[in-house]
Amino acid sequence: MTQIDDLPPLREVIRRHGLRPKKSLGQNFLLDLNLTARIARAGGALAGVTVVEIGPGPGGLTRALLAEGAGHVIAVERDERATAALAEIAARYPGRLTIVAGDALTFDACSALAGRHAQVIANLPYNIATALLVNWLTVEPWPPWYDALVLMFQREVAERIVAPPGGKAYGRLSVLANWRCEAKILFDVSRSAFVPPPQVTSSVVRLVPRAAPLPCDARALQRVTEAAFGQRRKMLRQSLKSLGIDAGALLEAAEIKPTARAEQIPVEGFVKLARAYFSLPPLA
Ligand code: SAM
Repeated sequence: MTQIDDLPPLREVIRRHGLRPKKSLGQNFLLDLNLTARIARAGGALAGVTVVEIGPGPGGLTRALLAEGAGHVIAVERDERATAALAEIAARYPGRLTIVAGDALTFDACSALAGRHAQVIANLPYNIATALLVNWLTVEPWPPWYDALVLMFQREVAERIVAPPGGKAYGRLSVLANWRCEAKILFDVSRSAFVPPPQVTSSVVRLVPRAAPLPCDARALQRVTEAAFGQRRKMLRQSLKSLGIDAGALLEAAEIKPTARAEQIPVEGFVKLARAYFSLPPLA
């Protein structure tokens, strides 16, 4: 594919707007139009869909989303240098692109969408990718404001998101992700697809919210998984002591063997631990 719209080629946009990639902002730009179209389509047909894009940068993926028919794109970008480039895209697609200049970590999507649902589709800045995902996974109320998350991560993070129990990749992120979503790695993206190339291979992951995840408090689940995986090689009766409650009583309430280790416990086990967590008093 050589062209998807009548806007100037991305290399020219980057040069004209002085968008020299900044490492501090996790800037690895995608210029391959086949790839941006593939990512845009990865959550299903986009006709009429509202999309939240984090970090549009020079707008390669943004243009693909709009060309694929997204009804409205809300693009949150922290780098002020990108604003003029994005304004040109907004002018090409009147009324369909809203540029939010600011930090994605404090962006309130729920208010911006005012009751509408959206897909989040993004080539995330890697330095805040996990923090953003945890925010989306622990959002209340549930089901959330998003119908799907289609996100680019470093391959190693993608593997942690989808990991089943029993292996090294299984951890806090796997439990949170699989508690509330069905998560799948869709495809890998080689380093050479980015300008500049990052250190490692990337993967596009799709997460679709479960309509009825096992009920439990997201904060409690975060606390027990942090404690359990914070010392993942220790038995749970030891690692859960950092919660400041009776770890033995907690494990008994959740019907989990005190000698088990975090990576052996499936999501349902962590949900039981989270449910029991608030019922036990702090140790004096
Ligand atoms: N979407 C573009 C692409 O695919 O070529 C750029 C992706 S680049 C990996 C990440 C983008 O996120 C950059 O444009 C960067 O400026 C932006 N960014 C970094 N930190 C951010 C933050 N806290 N909030 C919003 N955007 C941020």
